[in-house]
Amino acid sequence: MPIIVLDPGHGGSDPGAIGNGLQEKNLALTIGLKVKAYLESNYGADVRMTRSTDVFIELSQRSAFANGLGASYFVSLHHNAGGGTGFESFVYTGTRETETGRRQDVVHAEIMKFYSQYGLRDRGKKVANFAVLRGTSMPAILLENLFMDSVNDTNLLKSASFIQGLSNAIGLGIAKALNL
Ligand SMILES: [Zn+2]
Repeated sequence: MPIIVLDPGHGGSDPGAIGNGLQEKNLALTIGLKVKAYLESNYGADVRMTRSTDVFIELSQRSAFANGLGASYFVSLHHNAGGGTGFESFVYTGTRETETGRRQDVVHAEIMKFYSQYGLRDRGKKVANFAVLRGTSMPAILLENLFMDSVNDTNLLKSASFIQGLSNAIGLGIAKALNL
């Protein structure tokens, strides 16, 4: 059974993006725990979390945790900010043409299938030199689930049923990418 590492961004003294009464660190943790539950109950998957409480963890510790476990997939959960709307995903620069990019295609498509129902914008499959993507020795993806400074986006993120649907879509995407 492959080990899946879920990485809720930020935590503790680092709230991440803040907007419209929401904090990125809390949302990312809530979604992470729901994705874990989805993968465990539907696939009996072995899912580990870089954090499962509101604590601060260095970026280097997050990738080292996954590397030490010999994990098969690393999924970092974030929410965007900076004056946009919609969803985008990132893999490490130069890995689009590898297994990492193939999995990004699968996960991204599954999540967009959910977002499309709400008319949310697909900002694309992107690459970046992010620390957790660079530091992990297995395929890794970072998800930016909507914008904390968009009223339209945060109104959806405040809905429990929306969060559950999004978590299920992320879980299903991971399961498909790993052929669980
Ligand atoms: Zn973030």
